Amino acid sequence: DTLINQIAAGEVVERPASVVKELVENALDAGALRIDIDLEEGGVRLIRIRDDGAGIAPEQLPLAISRHATSKIASLDDLEGVATLGFRGEALPSIASVSRFAMSSRRADDGHGATIEVEGGRVGEVAPRPHPQGTTVEVRDLFFNVPARRKFLRAERTELGHIEEWLRQLALARPDVELRMSHNGKPSRRWKGDSDLLSDVRLHETLGEEFARNALHVDHEGAGLRLHGWIAQPSYNRASADQQYLYCNGRAIRDRSVAHAVKQAYADVLFHGRQPAYVLFLELDPRRVDVNVHPAKHEVRFRDSRLIHDFVYRTLQAALAETRA
Ligand code: ADP
Ligand code: MG
Repeated sequence: DTLINQIAAGEVVERPASVVKELVENALDAGALRIDIDLEEGGVRLIRIRDDGAGIAPEQLPLAISRHATSKIASLDDLEGVATLGFRGEALPSIASVSRFAMSSRRADDGHGATIEVEGGRVGEVAPRPHPQGTTVEVRDLFFNVPARRKFLRAERTELGHIEEWLRQLALARPDVELRMSHNGKPSRRWKGDSDLLSDVRLHETLGEEFARNALHVDHEGAGLRLHGWIAQPSYNRASADQQYLYCNGRAIRDRSVAHAVKQAYADVLFHGRQPAYVLFLELDPRRVDVNVHPAKHEVRFRDSRLIHDFVYRTLQAALAETRA
């Protein structure tokens, strides 16, 4: 089983940033409103994620780290309309098979917390352990038992950069969640929780004052679609490909067709040849989008891709044209 998990880890766990992503998404699925992320050596030495979510019952701990035991998918039909971020039940077993892993948790109504440790896939006993409400997952020495994978890890700064980039992406989508990050014992980033959907403050904290000041706010609905967010105006000088954030139903995605629509609208109306900077959220009935194309879930397949392309294009074109009038 450890081997199967390690093979799965090849898909799910590419580098420390993928571990952070899986663990933070689990925390969000558990309803966390505050998440602490402590890292050492770019996450290679340590990734510790603590949340204030619902927690796990002690007897559920071994299940959480068993392959597919927790899959939320009972049938293929369930694949449509999955609301939680995780649904395959393979992230924790995969991560635990290639690290020194510990998970501690307590639910609000339980008197005691509990912990379980896994070392390179070898699962220990559940033991009592005091813990505030919520869950802490510790992942130490990633790939310690898979030298071939460890070899592909990059410099501390590079790995940290991937983690920070992913967190920025998340911070934009979840302004209601407080995020704190530390690296090698020093606090490095902090986003305060704020319930407004993508408040100016969060935009500011994440992409900088320049962007926030020059961003055009968009919010448009039609044909069962909604597009909202921000696109930088020509006064924004740092417009570049690394500030293109696109979300579908709250998940960060990459989609050529939508990216093309944005770029096209930008080029048509105003700024030919320049890369637009944007943070855009597309909302639609989850049954109109298949999120199961890739395990990392960055890519999606829209049922009516052409319609979505045109909706995004027309919405942005109209909004941008108006700033010019
Ligand atoms: P998935 O998220 O696809 O269900 P995971 O392997 O990521 O699978 O997690 C397995 C299960 O462990 C989850 O379904 C959830 O029940 C539980 N779990 C994991 N992390 C947390 C957490 N931070 N808080 C509460 N429950 C968690
Ligand atoms: Mg998960």
